Amino acid sequence: MVIGKMDVGALRKALDRREISAVELTTYYLDRIAQLDPELNAFITVPRAEALRMAAAADRRIAAQEGVTALTGIPVAIKDNICTAGIRTTCGSRLLADFIPIYDATVVAKLKQAGAVLLGKTNLDEFAMGSATQYSFYGPTRNPWDRDRVAGGSSGGSAVAVAAGMAPLALGTDTGGSIRQPAAFCGVWGLKPTYGRVSRYGLVPYAPSFDQIGPLARNARDLFLLFRALAGHDPLDPTSLPAPAETGGDLSGSIRGLRVGLPREFFGAGLDAELKERVLTVAQVLAEAGCVLVELSLPSVAYALPAYYLLAYAEASSSMARYDGVRFGNRSGAEQGIVGMMTATRQGFGPEVKRRVLLGTYFLSADCYEEYYRPAQKVRAWLRQDFAAAYRRCDLLLTPTTAAPAFRFADEAGDERALALTEQCTVAANLTGDPALSFPCGRINHLPVGAQLIGPAGAEELLIRVAAVYAEKAPDDAMPEWTAPDVGEQIEV
Ligand code: GLN
Repeated sequence: MVIGKMDVGALRKALDRREISAVELTTYYLDRIAQLDPELNAFITVPRAEALRMAAAADRRIAAQEGVTALTGIPVAIKDNICTAGIRTTCGSRLLADFIPIYDATVVAKLKQAGAVLLGKTNLDEFAMGSATQYSFYGPTRNPWDRDRVAGGSSGGSAVAVAAGMAPLALGTDTGGSIRQPAAFCGVWGLKPTYGRVSRYGLVPYAPSFDQIGPLARNARDLFLLFRALAGHDPLDPTSLPAPAETGGDLSGSIRGLRVGLPREFFGAGLDAELKERVLTVAQVLAEAGCVLVELSLPSVAYALPAYYLLAYAEASSSMARYDGVRFGNRSGAEQGIVGMMTATRQGFGPEVKRRVLLGTYFLSADCYEEYYRPAQKVRAWLRQDFAAAYRRCDLLLTPTTAAPAFRFADEAGDERALALTEQCTVAANLTGDPALSFPCGRINHLPVGAQLIGPAGAEELLIRVAAVYAEKAPDDAMPEWTAPDVGEQIEV
């Protein structure tokens, strides 16, 4: 039995049959983190004693056969912008280096109720602002497939934790692509649920009209299982959707006759030629499985990226106002009077956050409202209409997740424009609020790449089901196996 190769279903069986205990399982992952993470830097905080305590409690639950769920005893890594009571939650920021929340985010409370084990808090760009997990005060996260390359971001720590077998499951957050893009770069599955489907209560906001929490996993079943544990109405989140009718929950059901849209704007200039081939192969496999391919156009998509950045920066500037040393944020310059103290405290933001606060404040100024903010809101409304029209012609959309595989730290990482291009395919679903899934569709050289399915509100199960059919027909592509070399050893190319 090789734990690292077992999916959550197999781990569940082993736990229920007492072939392994939750404490042993958790110890395995903690040891693997200790072995690999000094190089990969996927975790900011690993509360070992706390994790083992939760595992022991799960073992008691399993022994008593009381309240055992699919997740009882299963370790889950949590992105470090999601509040965990008693465990520090840094958001990748120096300002929150000592912040210990006094309450759990709803998703964390749900995982605890299910008996899952909180394994650790994963690395991210400061306040989730970034695409490469390079703007963390705690250092960059490295891509396990090639340590000179970025993991993607901002949920890079969560994607690497799952890809490198340091956790079977992880939570990420996605404001403009931060679950899907690192999932694609690392060869794992990542889902951004419909806006409002998963509670944001206890998620530290970046751009609250876009932010969504979602699961990362190594295959369709595990992903769906974690999604189901997270989803649901939450009275503590005013944007939470009413609970939908209960779904089947087993990913069965035919995909024959489903209309899969290929929007041409996602396949244009800037897309890596080999990556385009891979995604078209996915389309072919789905067609062979009985889906109908529909070519269509979504002209609003050309404006999605600037609209996204404008609105996200505007919201970010307001979200960051609370880090003033009075309400939140490590206080500096207390001797300098109130204004001096706030100024000194806010110097603790990293350069990327400062840049966004400045730009966002500018976009929100009275002079800019008509010129920038309102047009961006109009683009957002247009995207919603455009996508709604597309869903009359097809059931879901297939696109690449990114335009290319993971880049080297030395290349685009410092180039804002190139960075933004990595999310040209992902931001549209954040502007519309639609669910979107990234799943692996092969490798280019040694680097994994992902395909994306987008669907109308509430279509999560459908997206996963369709991708699962592809995964069944192309198992090696859809679950590229990263196996740990000894620490210090590079992956062979
Ligand atoms: N990279 C995008 C940004 O910087 C998206 C980040 C995210 O989804 N959290 O805004």
